[in-house]
Amino acid sequence: MVNLEKQVQYIKTVGPSRAELLNKLGIHTLKDLITYFPREYEDRGKVKKICECVDGEIALIEAVAVSRIVEVKMRGKSMYKLQLRDETGTCTALWFNQSYLTKMFRTGEKYKFYGKIASQYGRVEIASPVFEKATETKNTGKIIPIYPLTKNLTQNILRKIIEVGLSEVEDELEETLPEYILEKYKLMDLNQTIKKIHFPKDLTEFEKARKRLSFEELLIMQLALLELKNSYLNEKNGIEFSKDVKISELIEELPFRLTRAQLRVLEEIELDMENQKEMNRLLQGDVGSGKTVISILAAYKAVKSGYQAAIMAPTAILASQHLESFTDILNKKGIKCELLISSITKKRKEEIREKLKNGEIDILIGTHAILEENVEFKKLGLVVTDEQHRFGVKQRTKITEKGQNPDVLVMSATPIPRTLALILYGDLDISIIDELPPNRKPIETFAVRKRMEERVNNFVRQQIEEGRQAYIVCPLVEEDEENDLKAVTNLAEKYQKEVFSNYKVAYLHGKMKAKEKEEIMQNFKEGNIDILIATTVIEVGVNVPNASLMIVENAERFGLAQLHQLRGRVGRGEYKSYCVLKYEGNGENTRERMKVMCETNDGFKISEKDLELRGSGDFFGTAQHGLPELKVANLFEDMPLLMEVQKIAMNILEEDKKLEEQKNKLLKKAVKEKFNTRIEI
Ligand code: ADP
Ligand code: MG
Repeated sequence: MVNLEKQVQYIKTVGPSRAELLNKLGIHTLKDLITYFPREYEDRGKVKKICECVDGEIALIEAVAVSRIVEVKMRGKSMYKLQLRDETGTCTALWFNQSYLTKMFRTGEKYKFYGKIASQYGRVEIASPVFEKATETKNTGKIIPIYPLTKNLTQNILRKIIEVGLSEVEDELEETLPEYILEKYKLMDLNQTIKKIHFPKDLTEFEKARKRLSFEELLIMQLALLELKNSYLNEKNGIEFSKDVKISELIEELPFRLTRAQLRVLEEIELDMENQKEMNRLLQGDVGSGKTVISILAAYKAVKSGYQAAIMAPTAILASQHLESFTDILNKKGIKCELLISSITKKRKEEIREKLKNGEIDILIGTHAILEENVEFKKLGLVVTDEQHRFGVKQRTKITEKGQNPDVLVMSATPIPRTLALILYGDLDISIIDELPPNRKPIETFAVRKRMEERVNNFVRQQIEEGRQAYIVCPLVEEDEENDLKAVTNLAEKYQKEVFSNYKVAYLHGKMKAKEKEEIMQNFKEGNIDILIATTVIEVGVNVPNASLMIVENAERFGLAQLHQLRGRVGRGEYKSYCVLKYEGNGENTRERMKVMCETNDGFKISEKDLELRGSGDFFGTAQHGLPELKVANLFEDMPLLMEVQKIAMNILEEDKKLEEQKNKLLKKAVKEKFNTRIEI
């Protein structure tokens, strides 16, 4: 038996220093190594004639070296040129600064070269090609996997290491899918699959391997979600909230009229709350569609029926804001709301815990501080988690355990198409607010390049002179937090000292203490700060009606759904609002994405487009939705497969509800593993 948990360091050709590099890629064990899948593939299988090569393409040619390699000095750099010929024409191979090449070629001998072609005025060149003797097949003559790398690790080395890893497990991997499933759906077996996903002979083999992996990934996810849903359904002892407490009582007292969509979802929620079944409902709606008031009304019903409610928000800023909205409406109803976040004093926390336990607090609003063990409710009946993509299913379960099967309402601000939601949130019922409150002015959006910077800055000044405030958001790439932080502080300094020296500028980032952040937010809210520079910490839910301008730096680095979220921070008051997306690069994909943002304000449309243009990797990653990470499957491309797999999962569970039959043993194991390894925030 192979030991898949073997540390990579002990794999042949690895050793301590390479192991360190592999660790950086998240590869720690033999298993990690062989499941480190290629990012893409290069087809170095087909040899092209020199005369067929097209300018700009990447091609493989087979040609004879007709001269010795020559060194040409250019501005301190050395360029190496080699003349090649096949039966159709001649070509020059070019490399920079690689003196070792001079000894690599022999005149008259045949080699293969793989690289980018430049073909102009009848002259063909191939730039920095990968090469080997015509008889060799190490680097060419097949499909070559390309892996995500880290500094000091090359494709060739990593490829070699993976080859060694694969040879260590040679046909000894234990199958993870039941035999009957492999047969019924004609899937490749695991040993073949792992080999072929790295080194497919041709595209058909690759497709087969990929399909098997996607199938497995999606099947396990579906089984897990459906099992979860079944487990709720089995609980017949949910709370029946009072039919005599009507949400409509309070609706009349609101300062605005609810939209039809809001009324519809309230009806769905009220029905859930009144019947015996536990509510497990996802509330989806675009930014600003008015989800908060829905949760206030639901909490009102819970409290008036004699229960407590817990509202969980992902950030302290958001929780404080919720507290304000809740008390605004509920205070005069004699309902007591409190805030529990980690930055409050120990004494205050104790006080809150005491009051919560004896029922003096009706609604507790907070961050995951609420999850702490010593936070006990007297009678928790309703749990609301806001912006749920920040919480995992596990947190949800953890908080519901503080009550006796409380009803759960999950609010998500990342709208996704209904078909997809039905699949991804297979464990929840879904309500959608598909309408914005009336009189919302669409936010005018512009995508601009660097050269427009001065005009953008002038526009900011103009808005501030008119009494408005602006956000400037910079991207944060998680891999290198320190550098990012520097980028933010540098930018803030530049804006503060040079560009907007006449105005009050402040900045905000994730590494600041909660207290500091709150203070700055409060100051911004009160209008003491004109321009707030921030990383994406402001993404969720901040409400400053006087802010009318959202500038996003390096907008190309954000996903569309995220840009849409950011844009939703403005346009919250009576003022005409703007969003300026500053972007770099000229890729078609980038331009297309910017165009979508400028053309529509509809979050559902945007998320669909995001999915299409980016692939699902980022969008539906673990961090976003608390779902198991998908390594291979792509929710956009694999939508048909996903729908097929959902049906298969349903059939399996219909026959064997708890996956207890012998033939489903492997599935049960996989489901368990997936759900136990979920990352906690
Ligand atoms: P989100 O769905 O993004 O959480 P919020 O609940 O924060 O949106 O609502 C955004 C703003 O719209 C709030 O100031 C809220 O008071 C207001 N609002 C909500 N519903 C309505 C409505 N039906 N008519 C007018 N304003 C509303
Ligand atoms: Mg909200």
